Amino acid sequence: MDDCIFCKICAGEIPATVVYENDQVIAFEDLNPQAPVHVLVVPKEHHANLLDDVSAAELAEVVAAIGEVARAKGLSDRGFRVIANTGADAGQTVEHLHFHVLGGEPLGEGLIP
Ligand code: 5GP
Ligand code: ZN
Repeated sequence: MDDCIFCKICAGEIPATVVYENDQVIAFEDLNPQAPVHVLVVPKEHHANLLDDVSAAELAEVVAAIGEVARAKGLSDRGFRVIANTGADAGQTVEHLHFHVLGGEPLGEGLIP
């Protein structure tokens, strides 16, 4: 996708602070962090969101990468939250599938503010 920010990050055309990467997935620091740890886990293949023909194999890669990020960021023991905004009501702003990994402090009991 020519005009997709996250495709450009995957291709190394836009800089990002990479936390973890393999052939299928990249994880990098969010530009506008909402918690002490805020990492985006992104499949390298372009999908608009979770409803855009995502395979089980890709999702398995994402889950494995979330584990790598949690370990790299010291979240394994204390815990963290994963969010995938999907569509307008969720406030999705970047139309390339991504998973927010948030943590580093107590995030509160509510799922949404
Ligand atoms: P969404 O609202 O779509 O779920 O989340 C998009 C996220 O991407 C936001 O948290 C935003 O801060 C982040 N973001 C947008 N553009 C960039 C960018 O160019 N680099 C990085 N690292 N994060 C970005
Ligand atoms: Zn893309």
